[in-house]
Amino acid sequence: MNDCLFCRIVRGDIPARKVFEDDQVIAFHDINPARPMHLLVVPKRHIESLQAVTAADEPVLGRMLAVAKQLANENGSPDGFRVIINNGRVGGQEVPHLHAHLVGGPEPVGPMLKRN
Ligand code: AMP
Ligand code: ZN
Repeated sequence: MNDCLFCRIVRGDIPARKVFEDDQVIAFHDINPARPMHLLVVPKRHIESLQAVTAADEPVLGRMLAVAKQLANENGSPDGFRVIINNGRVGGQEVPHLHAHLVGGPEPVGPMLKRN
């Protein structure tokens, strides 16, 4: 059994404000939202990051994006949204269980990255 934070949320050992669940993914509100809508879409199976995916993970990666679209419409961001996946040290990943940030709301989320 994996005691990583998001594995514990998947198992229900730690509470989360869940908005969606199926056999492959769950989605819940980010605990520290950066925009009016800030959800995390998480594969139930522990995958550390995109750096660790294999061909066997391709269906769940597709499912994450399809669920993102549905959730944006249902959670106050019908006019567009942004999906962000941080990976590893360079990508700024803090929780080592793959997750897609789904951010949006009524207003544009702003520039993608600061340019150096
Ligand atoms: P990342 O930097 O891409 O790994 O993002 C991790 C995200 O997880 C951050 O936006 C945190 O606010 C969020 N987070 C951390 N702990 C929890 C939690 N218990 N429930 C929901 N979101 C969390
Ligand atoms: Zn995990």
